[in-house]
Amino acid sequence: MSYREKVCIIYTGGTLGMLPKETGDSCSPLVPAEWKELKEFVSFLKRLPLETVLYEMDPIDSSNMNPDYWLDIAKVIKDNYNDYSGFLILHGTDTMAYTAAALSFLLENLSKPVIITGAQIPISAARNDAAQNLASAVMFAAPYAFGLPLIPEAAIFFNNKLIRGNRAKKIDSFGYAGFDSCNYPALADTAGDIFVNEQIIRKPSEKGFFIHRKLEREVFLFDIFPGIAPEIMRYIFNIPNLKGVVLKTYGAGNAPTNDSFLKEIEFAVDKKKLVIVNVTQCIRGGVKPARYDAGAKLLDGGVISGADMTPEAALVKLMFLLGSGHDVETTKRLMQKDLRGEICVDTPNKL
Ligand code: ASP
Repeated sequence: MSYREKVCIIYTGGTLGMLPKETGDSCSPLVPAEWKELKEFVSFLKRLPLETVLYEMDPIDSSNMNPDYWLDIAKVIKDNYNDYSGFLILHGTDTMAYTAAALSFLLENLSKPVIITGAQIPISAARNDAAQNLASAVMFAAPYAFGLPLIPEAAIFFNNKLIRGNRAKKIDSFGYAGFDSCNYPALADTAGDIFVNEQIIRKPSEKGFFIHRKLEREVFLFDIFPGIAPEIMRYIFNIPNLKGVVLKTYGAGNAPTNDSFLKEIEFAVDKKKLVIVNVTQCIRGGVKPARYDAGAKLLDGGVISGADMTPEAALVKLMFLLGSGHDVETTKRLMQKDLRGEICVDTPNKL
């Protein structure tokens, strides 16, 4: 018998696998189904020239996703790493970008594809995007079966695009084009013939694969907005055991320059020794901290630039670095370093 690539499908729930709560009432709220209830809708997988094996985790709405679950997914991949050509994770869209970023950091020396997909409409519905996403995504997890190049990355496949996981953002709560690749081209496009952008794909690691097993939870993420109260910032920065904050600022990384705002930043950096990371609230672009005085003041105050990282990637990277036991200075240095293709650090301050 000829060799068939084997894909491990890790089912975590999400809309792709949801059914109405009340059987027969298609308007009742969607809840994640068990895999056995979905089998008839995924039978098309049998027609593909590959073997799939299902690993069923606790099926959840991904609104309930959390760092423990990420560590569990990483462990499933680790435990099965040698037995499969690739991994396909079925996941809800709401927190998919966080999970994809988390896996990109937790999986060290990756040399196999870890593809994450989901849908806006359940696979059980007559009209859906789930079957299409699933059928294409599985191809990238078993590339040789389809004559495709190997993409050894934690990547999201959605609506004809394969996106680096730590560059992804959910941009639409209903539309099929639910994700965007922020500040980085798509790795592949399947709208028609499959095109893989081979130049920009990360190389498979030749070192031994392993996973990281700790994430720091004492972190926070918030947007600044006109009129943000210094007392509320003080309240947040004073949270016992808090270690790091991702601050979503305006445009190129700008924030108020009044004394009361800057006093809170000083308190957080100098007194509380927090790692504060500056990322933009904009979907594209990033932080150029010295472009405006309103950004330079944060830089002078010890806030580090997250450059063009998404808030999702910055937050999870902070959890990862602090969880790995790095001290404040090392965490600050590594936050600004490219670890998995999540950041472009070359942002000169030129007009
Ligand atoms: N609430 C769902 C989830 O994230 C949304 C989806 O999957 O599209 O699990």
